[in-house]
Amino acid sequence: MSTTWHILGAGSLGTLWAARLARAGLPVRLILRNQTRLASYQSAGGLTLVEHGETRTYPVIGETPDSQEPIHRLLVACKAYDAEAAIAQLQQRLVPNVELILLQNGLGSQDAVAAQLPQARCLFASSTEGAFREGDWRVVFAGHGYTWLGDAAHPTPPLWLDDLHAAGIPHAWSTDILTRLWRKLALNCAINPLTVLYQCRNGGLQDHHCEVATLCAELSELLECCGQPAAALDLQDEVERVIHATAANYSSMYQDVANARRTEISYLLGYACHAATRHQLNLPHLQQLQVRLVDELLARGLPRD
Ligand code: NAP
Repeated sequence: MSTTWHILGAGSLGTLWAARLARAGLPVRLILRNQTRLASYQSAGGLTLVEHGETRTYPVIGETPDSQEPIHRLLVACKAYDAEAAIAQLQQRLVPNVELILLQNGLGSQDAVAAQLPQARCLFASSTEGAFREGDWRVVFAGHGYTWLGDAAHPTPPLWLDDLHAAGIPHAWSTDILTRLWRKLALNCAINPLTVLYQCRNGGLQDHHCEVATLCAELSELLECCGQPAAALDLQDEVERVIHATAANYSSMYQDVANARRTEISYLLGYACHAATRHQLNLPHLQQLQVRLVDELLARGLPRD
């Protein structure tokens, strides 16, 4: 009998994973915030995934954090700023050798969770898949991609990667997951805040080439200093490639701000600036970018963190 996949957070990525695991016949349970959310979910009849224009509903079982069933494997699919508190609610249900898969973008939340649960195995994930919520319990699978999984403490892959294979979730085991997460963070820092400040699509940054190049130089210095030289390699070239290849897209931070949603700034640019301070690195353009972004968030009535 397969181990149950408990999924914490039925948003975009949580739904994307839950639907595919359930469709492969694997045991899945969704953990929702509270009774009100559970009642809303149950009246919807399940999770709906829209893929290639085709819509299908998956009647995955839902529960609240105070359900009694022990948790052996937990996919954490909430935002970085919610992860610690959401997991704390489940503490009594986690078995001693529980495995957590952390899907959060950026850095910082993974270490906070690992420190909170020293007995757990925490696997970090970095994904290029894209999904968005069209409404409650209804998600559109917008961008096919890949998910890298790794464990900074133990290089051995878990056996349940077979479940991902069975579910058709494109993935690979990574022995350098921290390098991947740092690289993605650097790409994000070079692109996303500027798209908010200039109110443009990614392609609009082609008009700000010098500013992007200066940020890439500072970010490369930071990565080197943080022991991540591989993540610094040809950073500017890749940033320019991404800007070109995704010219028509709005960045995730732009979309959060446009929809008046809290951003994950503390786990992206905020994390980078904090690391620079810790290493006594003077990165004036990066620090100034953070000041400008925080001002913009505050001017829009959004949280600064
Ligand atoms: P999302 O759509 O906002 O979903 C987050 C979910 O977490 C929401 O359903 C929310 O519940 C739930 N949640 C928060 N606190 C909870 C709690 N205490 N108990 C139970 N549920 C709780 O976010 P997302 O887009 O899937 O993003 C998740 C993470 O993946 C982020 O770090 C993001 O940067 C990263 N990521 C996302 C994508 C993407 O394409 N979406 C791609 C790559 C990486 P409510 O519905 O009740 O608010």
